[in-house]
Amino acid sequence: MQLEFYGAAGEVTGSCHIVVLGGRRLLLDCGLIQGGDLPFERNRAPFPFDAGQIDAVVLSHAHIDHCGRLPLLWKRGFRGPVYATPACRDLARILLADSATMQERDAERESRRRRRHDGKHPIEPLYTLDDAREVLGQFRTVRYGEPREILPGVEVTFRDAGHILGSTSVWLRLQEAAVERRIVFSGDIGQYDTPILRDPEPGPAADLVLMESTYGDRLHRDRAATLEELGGILRDASRDRGNVLIPAFAVGRSQELLYELATHYDEWRLGDWQVFLDSPMAIEASAVYWKHTELFDEEARQWRASLRNLPTLPNLRLCRTAEESMAINRISNGAIVIAGSGMCTGGRIVHHLKHNLDRPECDVVFTGFQAQGTLGRAIVERREYVRIHGARVKVQARVHTLGGFSAHGDRQDLMRWYGAIPGRPPVWLVHGESGAAQALRDALRVEGVEAEVAQPGVTIDLGAAP
Ligand SMILES: [Zn+2]
Repeated sequence: MQLEFYGAAGEVTGSCHIVVLGGRRLLLDCGLIQGGDLPFERNRAPFPFDAGQIDAVVLSHAHIDHCGRLPLLWKRGFRGPVYATPACRDLARILLADSATMQERDAERESRRRRRHDGKHPIEPLYTLDDAREVLGQFRTVRYGEPREILPGVEVTFRDAGHILGSTSVWLRLQEAAVERRIVFSGDIGQYDTPILRDPEPGPAADLVLMESTYGDRLHRDRAATLEELGGILRDASRDRGNVLIPAFAVGRSQELLYELATHYDEWRLGDWQVFLDSPMAIEASAVYWKHTELFDEEARQWRASLRNLPTLPNLRLCRTAEESMAINRISNGAIVIAGSGMCTGGRIVHHLKHNLDRPECDVVFTGFQAQGTLGRAIVERREYVRIHGARVKVQARVHTLGGFSAHGDRQDLMRWYGAIPGRPPVWLVHGESGAAQALRDALRVEGVEAEVAQPGVTIDLGAAP
């Protein structure tokens, strides 16, 4: 019986781990590598295992760095089941289709470039929409808290991780001959006390914990202060008669923002505004969120019970078509535009920035992390000029970064989640850059917990007595 770290060990992307027992192989996540060095080459490299020999996959949640290589796994021979919660499956359907479309488009563009420049062979997409559809057909849903035997000797129980809708921490009970081991894979852990989603759920004792460490070195800004700041920005913007642009990730952040705008509608005087959700993917993801109200926290449920609906924005417009999106450019003031991509690397937010960034009466509000090298980062760093669609645009709008929105828990949240597992089991830290992982390891060790940072390719023998 053994556990091998493969992806998201020593970094925050490409989550993938393997459990081997009784000659069977179980994959925990199969994520796409995003950003960093050589993501193109790394995603295309052979898996360090035979995809056809994987018996099943357990998926912690639908973010693409956790599920984005499932279609590739299918393409390379995997034919087993993929276990996920129903909401995770619904979101994965949207995100994998989008990822496949992007893979096809990128390959086409690269092939054209190769033909023009050096006559090289065209390249194949990493995977296609058909591959994504095939692997989505392999999904089997398991509800929270219901133990399920997924392979001989492997029982899985999902518990809410409070990160995005349908996200789980995975409790595994492994049995090989007389040896039984209980392992917990945290998945990505959310913040406590955030809107819509429930708090990360505690679970029973375990022998070993595999835990994320994204913000293991950080404490988030207080949520109430963050909301106060957003309210202030909107009130000032209303006075200055400009537009407000909010770049946001389609899944999770967009829904959270809509919810906060709706619950603070009067307080922030939002009746003076038109609010646009300008992202077909965010609109689809919102439909999944509003469909799974059984997964909401108490506050969101009470809203729903009292209004027989969720808090809604009477002035919200959903923009599905490109024409609807372009029409927003004719509005010079009074528009709040929520659009992707979250780091402004593409998507509709880019043309809104082109139209508003050089206007001092406008505001750009960032609610998420902006990676090095992205347009979002250049704006956050307040460069004098940025390049958009080949044009130089002067950054004159007011730029704000709100620190309290995060789908990931901070160090305190991670310690709280771990602290709820009885027996203080040893921990292997994954899904964190080395500084963050080491900081969390040290914090755990101070509490007397055995903690190590996982390295790719390292195998842990689970057969020995704990
Ligand atoms: Zn995630």
